Amino acid sequence: MPRPIRAVVKAAALRHNLQVAREAAGEAKIWAVLKANAYGHGLERAARALAEADGFAVLDFQEAARLRLAGIRKPILMLEGFFRPLDVNLLFKYGLTPVIHNAEQVELLKHMDFPAQLDLYLKVNSGMNRLGFGVDDVRLMYNTLRLHPRVGNITLMTHFADAEGPGGVHDQLRWFNELVQPFAAPRSLANSAALLRFREAREGWVRPGLMLYGCSPFADWNAEEIGLQPAMTLSSELIAVQNLAPGERVGYGFTFEAKEPMTLGVVACGYADGYPRHAPTGTPVLVKGQRTRLIGRVSMDMMCVDITDIEEAYIGAPVTLWGEGLPADEVAAAAGTVSYELLCALAPRVPVHEEA
Ligand SMILES: *Cc1c(COP(=O)(O)O)cnc(C)c1O
Repeated sequence: MPRPIRAVVKAAALRHNLQVAREAAGEAKIWAVLKANAYGHGLERAARALAEADGFAVLDFQEAARLRLAGIRKPILMLEGFFRPLDVNLLFKYGLTPVIHNAEQVELLKHMDFPAQLDLYLKVNSGMNRLGFGVDDVRLMYNTLRLHPRVGNITLMTHFADAEGPGGVHDQLRWFNELVQPFAAPRSLANSAALLRFREAREGWVRPGLMLYGCSPFADWNAEEIGLQPAMTLSSELIAVQNLAPGERVGYGFTFEAKEPMTLGVVACGYADGYPRHAPTGTPVLVKGQRTRLIGRVSMDMMCVDITDIEEAYIGAPVTLWGEGLPADEVAAAAGTVSYELLCALAPRVPVHEEA
């Protein structure tokens, strides 16, 4: 038998969350964002479950090729465009839509003969200062690409830095509108947070990622309130039980000391499985469906949990690390990170089971 840890991915939850995105998106079309192995859920698996999306967004050509090989015919958006001149051939081979975000990419395309029409996205830097063209060159780049006889549709795209936070999207949206004001072109603006919270960002093509997997980008609006269902549940079992007397300590660095008699369970899950090592004592965990807390330091293959008040929690008792009954968002918050990082970090050694 393998170690008891496993992740279950529910296709029905992915489909449901896409429906929530669809309702929020109104008339806008949906790129389902599948980067980072579909946020840890499995690229092909997620693409199959999200087949009703209008297209899929990825980063790597390898991911795009895998989607085509899996029979996916829908548009595929390359979120970082292409990385090397040779990659341009792959755009045509696989029929991909690149995001063009730097002058080198434009320079290369400008002098190329294309074997077919190429639709592309032009990335506008509206303030995040990561990818895209700003005030100095967005018009020049647009016009250069527009003049290419085989460039088809150009969609204007930007990305928000704080759609989930106090900043919102308004300053960036205003600047974006100013930058692209002369061009009558379709747009793609919204990630999950902008899609859910800002009506004015829901036009053209929206790009939800996190929400499809059942997590919330917001600190003040949780997944259940939004109507999302967790798509991934990470679970394991107790593989040992220890009784502690007051003054006894637990784990590497002896970071936890029992103040009174207590019982702890050792869970077959550690940071080599993708559980965050920096999750502190107190991080929520479910044992036999009951909420308890992590204690001491997470080690590579194991972690300890308080089972003092959980009846009949013997070896083999089921443990939920996140997912159904325990939102990944809550575990992430306790660990000082975001659910994005937890989901993406799921280690290849954890077997993933798919549920319809
Ligand atoms: C990852 C990504 C998204 C999806 O963001 P979520 O917050 O997961 O919805 C959208 N657009 C771009 C450009 C991205 O890189």
